[in-house]
Amino acid sequence: MLDCGADPAGQRIAGMSSDRIIQIERDILGKNDRLAADNRARFRADDVLAFNLVSSPGAGKTSLLVRAVSELQNEYEVGVIEGDQQTSNDAERIRATGVPAIQVNTGKGCHLDAAMVGEAYRRLPPLNHGLLFIENVGNLVCPAAFDLGEAAKIVVFSTTEGEDKPLKYPDMFAAATLMLINKIDLAPVLDFDLARTIEYARRINPRIEVLTVSARTGEGFAGFYAWIRRQSGRQSRPAPSAALG
Ligand code: MG
Ligand code: ZN
Repeated sequence: MLDCGADPAGQRIAGMSSDRIIQIERDILGKNDRLAADNRARFRADDVLAFNLVSSPGAGKTSLLVRAVSELQNEYEVGVIEGDQQTSNDAERIRATGVPAIQVNTGKGCHLDAAMVGEAYRRLPPLNHGLLFIENVGNLVCPAAFDLGEAAKIVVFSTTEGEDKPLKYPDMFAAATLMLINKIDLAPVLDFDLARTIEYARRINPRIEVLTVSARTGEGFAGFYAWIRRQSGRQSRPAPSAALG
């Protein structure tokens, strides 16, 4: 399951039995799940709606976020956590819009985990009643297994990728609530088969929602913002204390 850790089926680690490796994976994920639950409680207490953006490298997550946070910051408090193995380039692109961003460098690690997100969230200014976008490391494998405490995973898929990616990386598409198909402006040039992509994604996850966007032209973003507003309406908020006479 974890391409970053030991792969019990594929790899041998000197002196370690595969039972032992499986146990280590379970321990790592169990600890992550506890920290993710802490993050989720914290986001709920602050009334922050958190999205975990995942994709292959180059699908355009950062460009998509630059446009989205520029436009949403008039409506919501917005913050961004940027995960990359190296560099703070993506966080700098977000900050240029006026939105606060914390860069997390994972080094050799190929995914964000709940501990990294909890620490980065504490370094952001308060986002009360706002939105938190977490841009995960570009990788469709292990980010599927690491809950960060988000309200929803959004998988960004680009028309420059093969239509069968949902079939090749089923765990990620199964875990996602929304698939954003980016670079839709290039679809005609690329002979991109939208219907087939959606069919493959729904074969893995019949409930996945699908929107098409272009971070370059802005096409489809109104629909994305409408989706976000629906999620913020859906997020259960603490009931206002009833005015009992
Ligand atoms: Mg990026
Ligand atoms: Zn990983």
